Amino acid sequence: MGDIAEKGASFYSNAEDYWKDIPPTVDGMLGGYGNISNMDIRGSKAFLQKFLGEGEGKTGAGCALDCGAGIGRITKRLLLPLFNTVDLVDVTQEFLDKAKTYLGDEGQRVGKYFCTGLQEFVPEFGRYDVIWIQWVIGHLTDGHLVEFLRRCQSALRPNGLIVIKDNVSYEGVVPDEVDSSVCRDLDIVRTLVAQAGLQVVLEEQEMNFPKELFQVHTLALR
Ligand code: SAH
Repeated sequence: MGDIAEKGASFYSNAEDYWKDIPPTVDGMLGGYGNISNMDIRGSKAFLQKFLGEGEGKTGAGCALDCGAGIGRITKRLLLPLFNTVDLVDVTQEFLDKAKTYLGDEGQRVGKYFCTGLQEFVPEFGRYDVIWIQWVIGHLTDGHLVEFLRRCQSALRPNGLIVIKDNVSYEGVVPDEVDSSVCRDLDIVRTLVAQAGLQVVLEEQEMNFPKELFQVHTLALR
């Protein structure tokens, strides 16, 4: 896809306007497919657990960052059960407000709520064991995605991990004018990851999602 100069700033403002009108619910987060949330979380847990635990080279369980967290669907079911502290970042204030009640008592272990676009967000140096980025990369231009991933790498603790879980197209870049995002094919995502200086250490496809959806792939990076 083109960069922000081609797309225009409306690429971001249109997305912000779109999400402001979406109800702060699991169904809202998943574009009406709230019913796949359980399966999604189960798959993510199995994926992440391959890296966690005791011993040489294992990823720690101290602090995670949920990027494009929305109301905290992933924080609640995946990250808070596995990490001591979780931070959330999202561009939509209403979703973060909702997270404060949606997460319940366990939400007391949230460290920080950041309301900002990932294209501007600078995660704290060396703070995170895991940075989880799900269903949001399509809202960043290529250049912003590469730069964001670089900043994420600097924000990792030793043996830390960045995870991208997102839709991938069969070929090329598929724009979505409704929510102002793009869907990239796997080769393009891999190229951008490499440009950020990261390596794919594990990659899996979600096999059980409805056939009419884009394929969903999970990539572990470091
Ligand atoms: N990852 C969550 C939410 C997915 S919905 C989940 O899987 O449940 C997409 C989320 O991305 C919304 O909460 C929306 O507010 C947020 N978002 C959209 N553009 C963004 C941007 N540029 N920076 C940060 N968050 C963004």
